[in-house]
Amino acid sequence: MELTSAIPGRLETINTFKDDGGSVAAVFPIHYPRALLRAFDILPVEVWGPPGVDPSQGASQLQPYICSLVHNMLAFLKTGGLKITDYLIVPHTCDSLQGFGSILIDFVSPRQPVIPIYIPRGRRDSDVDFFAAEFAAIYTRLQEITSRSPSDEEIMGCILREEQADMLLAKLHKQRDGLPFSDLQYYRFIRTREYLPAENFSQLAQETLSQAGESQRNSGIPIILSGIVPEPMSLFETITDLGGMVVADDLAGCGRRLYPTGKSEEPFQRMAESIIHAPPDPTRGNSLQERLDHLLNLQNISGAKGVVFYNIKFCEPELFDLPILRKGLREAGVPSIPIEVDVNDPFSQQTITRLEAFLETIE
Ligand code: SF4
Repeated sequence: MELTSAIPGRLETINTFKDDGGSVAAVFPIHYPRALLRAFDILPVEVWGPPGVDPSQGASQLQPYICSLVHNMLAFLKTGGLKITDYLIVPHTCDSLQGFGSILIDFVSPRQPVIPIYIPRGRRDSDVDFFAAEFAAIYTRLQEITSRSPSDEEIMGCILREEQADMLLAKLHKQRDGLPFSDLQYYRFIRTREYLPAENFSQLAQETLSQAGESQRNSGIPIILSGIVPEPMSLFETITDLGGMVVADDLAGCGRRLYPTGKSEEPFQRMAESIIHAPPDPTRGNSLQERLDHLLNLQNISGAKGVVFYNIKFCEPELFDLPILRKGLREAGVPSIPIEVDVNDPFSQQTITRLEAFLETIE
């Protein structure tokens, strides 16, 4: 508990990094080459909404059926929430984010350069090559903007630092049961990977892991959380209050970004391999069978009694997979429940009642 209260927030981290002469990129979800940005002394700080902003500023340029994350991102940008940042990185994660990138370039014309990232949809060698070429193009763009030309060795140094942070993140996931954190504290902690420099995250992760021991958590009904992002974070308090406990996750912002170490000695290829071989993710075009196998494996390892699909309204990549995933889980004897949220809304009583009923059923 002491550790989580000592972690610097986003703004403090940004200010410290800038005071040391670096720049900051606002990065939209989900996958991007952290090490490449750091090689140009750019700190990536992720933007997942944020929740709780007035989305009306985004509504004039977005259809109502676009998810609340994208509505909030646009509203946050237009109301000055990202003015401290120097770059906007927009991965083409889904149709909504692709549209968001186009709106930025064609209509909003922000002060910051907008850098899109095209994501390959698969795990073939050609996908790795495509992604590596995409990173090479981003290198050239950043080279033009910054007049810097980091060498392969410098990029590789940044890659190794990120890989170390990713290995520690994976350890935190594996040993979560022995950490002195509630679910809320745990997710607050691991989500610092969204903005802390890798070296700072690694240091905190090592300190935390040194405190790991036998299970330190109160017992609860074990569940897996699947979806994009656990916002609003009060979700975890609700789950705890209802007697549940998150023992594993398949969240795009968390468990689906347990990036393995790349193998290539060529920096762009290595960064591409690492992202492409991460746990299955519908936004990277991984198959339903891969996703189902992954969920069943998580269930097997963690002992979860059910899966909560915590989906953001209108999130097509998640919604397309949902019926078949639930069917596959049902056939394997694993109950599940879909919960739909808007990141600006507090948990409704109806949602709490459904979650409570689900936990009672699987207890
Ligand atoms: S929540 Fe879904 S639809 Fe919205 S940006 Fe994320 S992946 Fe795209």
